[in-house]
Amino acid sequence: MTETTSRADIVVIGAGHAGGEVASRIRQGGFAGSIALIGEEPYLPYHRPPLSKAFLAGQTSVEQLLIRSKGSYEKAKIDWYPSTVVERIDREAHRLRLASGDWFEYGKLVLATGGRPRRLTLPGSDLKGLHYMRGIADVDALRLEFVPGKRLIIVGGGYIGLEVASVAINAGLDVEVVEVASRVLARVTGPELSAFYETTHKAAGVKLRLSTVVDGFEPSAMQSDRVGAVRCGDGAMIPADLVLVAVGLIPNVELAQAAGLAIGNGIKVDELGRTLDPDIYAVGDCTEFPLPCMDGERLRLESVPSAIEQARAVASLINGVPNPYDLIPWFWSDQYNLKLQSIGLHRGHDQVVIRQPTRAEGFVAFYLKEGRVIAADCVNAILEFNVAKRLVAENIHIDANILANPETNLKTLASQVHQDG
Ligand code: FAD
Repeated sequence: MTETTSRADIVVIGAGHAGGEVASRIRQGGFAGSIALIGEEPYLPYHRPPLSKAFLAGQTSVEQLLIRSKGSYEKAKIDWYPSTVVERIDREAHRLRLASGDWFEYGKLVLATGGRPRRLTLPGSDLKGLHYMRGIADVDALRLEFVPGKRLIIVGGGYIGLEVASVAINAGLDVEVVEVASRVLARVTGPELSAFYETTHKAAGVKLRLSTVVDGFEPSAMQSDRVGAVRCGDGAMIPADLVLVAVGLIPNVELAQAAGLAIGNGIKVDELGRTLDPDIYAVGDCTEFPLPCMDGERLRLESVPSAIEQARAVASLINGVPNPYDLIPWFWSDQYNLKLQSIGLHRGHDQVVIRQPTRAEGFVAFYLKEGRVIAADCVNAILEFNVAKRLVAENIHIDANILANPETNLKTLASQVHQDG
């Protein structure tokens, strides 16, 4: 078989949220050269957040998940290469080796390789019935086993685990979440919000087993190659018909690492999305970058708004208008009829103000550091979330008592703060 060599002025590796966004924005910014978008999945860039929510619940189709239609990439003259895996970057020759054996030459390269679920390597981890969740194919496989009455054990009480728990209990499954920490969402939020969600899940019928480590998986008595129970560190055996493991993400950095790029908790980039190679940029979940609102502290985020902001920064740089990353991280999660919106990072706060939300079934927590709001969690509280966004952005001193007082009109408070600032 003869090898072929293709070429594009800009090549994006990874047709996920960040990859699709950077390719589209480069074109929108006026770039006139050729753009190629290479992705190992067979789908155009799609929204992953609904995977553990509406898509798992069967309320959304694959077409509805797509971020842009095929036609809009064609119109923008972005050449999409589906089901195509890049195996190696040859920085010196400015070319990529594909799994097919073909080559792809680039002028500039954008890495948008995302991440993959952290897999367990415990005894029994290879049994059938164990699932992970990152892409459409994972949800398709899980949904086949979503049968009312089946016992689903979810390993990991983070956002994905809890979102799946809410869909599964509504679908009539028997659901138990096993979490190693002493509370759910421990990595991402404070104890107050964790307690709120624990109460909500228990009320819906989800069992929670906290401070419990999973030791392995036992085969089913009926089918020896299928999971039948989850074995816990304390000796407990939890009967299971299927298991979802949702214990975090490993960033896909291997390509970059093998090419000699700097790696920390992701591919290291600066505030413009540049790696140490002047012709290679990186965006999205695979990157570690300096966050301006944290005084340049370097971290890696797994969030759509952040991926979009990084894509914007790289696209503007490629179009000759450097404009660094400038976003206060925010995130959302949908569980039951509860929409959580979080702004800022829960790091280093010294005070928490819980405020009665406008809607009874909601929850609002402001996190303050030295009298300034640095983060907030708002459940079914859009007004409070909008105010929190401004308070965090303005970084202005605020009296916690005024914030907590249900008599305080938050809208007025925010505009006052804005004027004073
Ligand atoms: P990805 O979307 O993972 O895209 C990377 C792509 O690169 C993949 O398609 C991968 O196949 C491809 N790729 C990797 N290596 C190669 C290679 N060598 N060759 C070719 N292609 C390659 N975020 C939120 O903000 N809110 C939410 O509510 C939320 N919910 C989520 C729920 C679930 C179930 C999941 C999985 C994620 C959720 N996220 C949420 C996170 C969000 O989806 C990610 O932050 C976002 O998708 C990151 O985009 P990305 O392009 O960096 O990575």
